[in-house]
Amino acid sequence: MPRVEVSESACTGCGVCVETCPTDVLRLNPDNKAAMAYPRDCQGCFVCQWDCAYGAIRVYVNDPAGPVGGAP
Ligand code: SF4
Ligand code: SF4
Repeated sequence: MPRVEVSESACTGCGVCVETCPTDVLRLNPDNKAAMAYPRDCQGCFVCQWDCAYGAIRVYVNDPAGPVGGAP
């Protein structure tokens, strides 16, 4: 299952990835950093990684660790 990793030091909280994710996976957390709110909906499409101007978000596909905080 795809997994998205956000560098909290690099994320500016601009919200671009939240807006552009086609399956509405991402939200800004209380610290104003992008986070996977709906990990099961991630398609591993890389749009968030491509659209982040700050290099703060990376997508991993077929990661055996599974989605962040996600159940199997
Ligand atoms: S696009 Fe990048 S900098 Fe903006 S909220 Fe998403 S991860 Fe953070
Ligand atoms: S990889 Fe695609 S589906 Fe997954 S969070 Fe990023 S934009 Fe959304």
